[in-house]
Amino acid sequence: MNSLFIEEKELDALMKSIQPYAKKGSMPEYIPELNKMDPDLFGCAICNEDSMTAAGDADYLFTLQSVSKVISLALSLMDQGEEVVFSKVGMEPTGDPFHTIHALEEEKPSKPLNPMINAGAIAVTSLIAGKSGEEKIGRLLTFIHELTGNPAISICEKTARSEKENADLNRALSYFMKSHQVIDGDMESLLDVYIKQCSIQMNCKDLARIGSIIGKKGRDPNSGRNIIPPRIARIVKTFMVTCGMYNASGEFAIRAGVPAKSGVSGAMLGALPDGTGIGIISPPLDKKGNSAAGLKLLETLSQKYKWSIFT
Ligand code: GLU
Repeated sequence: MNSLFIEEKELDALMKSIQPYAKKGSMPEYIPELNKMDPDLFGCAICNEDSMTAAGDADYLFTLQSVSKVISLALSLMDQGEEVVFSKVGMEPTGDPFHTIHALEEEKPSKPLNPMINAGAIAVTSLIAGKSGEEKIGRLLTFIHELTGNPAISICEKTARSEKENADLNRALSYFMKSHQVIDGDMESLLDVYIKQCSIQMNCKDLARIGSIIGKKGRDPNSGRNIIPPRIARIVKTFMVTCGMYNASGEFAIRAGVPAKSGVSGAMLGALPDGTGIGIISPPLDKKGNSAAGLKLLETLSQKYKWSIFT
């Protein structure tokens, strides 16, 4: 069944029944500004072409965190091509957590396993075209403005500062990769771009629009133009399936079968091939770092509306 049949009151009722799952999660601790988010926030937007169904806190602004990895991957693939990008980062999922460092040491050459773990995402961000960090983050923002049609989307500087003060693990990953010639340049400037990328803020409706475009081969429903080349949209969607939900991606593929990506802010992006895009926010996280209520909501929606791409 197509998502166009979902009515606002139906989504609202479903979310009310799922809200208690947020209590099973806990707030992230390593980025203090994220820890301050309201644990009761719960928003969802679902869009397809020009229809949008939204409920709860769908207009609330939150930072993308790891959801941004999907967008920076698309842009760096558009900038550099597959050969260059995949010479720096692998294509394999991992059962390790997103900030793992040990895999870098075990892999020979020590390139990160995939673009959805932190090391891989930092390597991907280093490939965004631009002479300076400012130019790279500016280009990423412009790309996001184009995808969402919302030029007001910006960086939450407070969250970026909060992460910068607590970024030693990402700093270690970056310097490790530099010492193994996976990436080069000024690591502090690269970290700055990566952290700002994670702190880009938007609401569920913006996120759903991005999901819709990625889902439907990169095509903008308004202009009919491919903002992302179809092959790149396919690569991105494939990583969302294999690595998008951290080390819970396998189970999520079986239960929901929706190409999706989550972030430690409790954000979740879904992208279906029929152009259905889903944006969710609910901050408390389960043990694997996925939004506890967000995960349940996306699973339930998928089962109810038969969204799995594996049917
Ligand atoms: N900014 C966070 C980090 O790099 C993002 C992590 C996440 O959302 O998984 O640690």
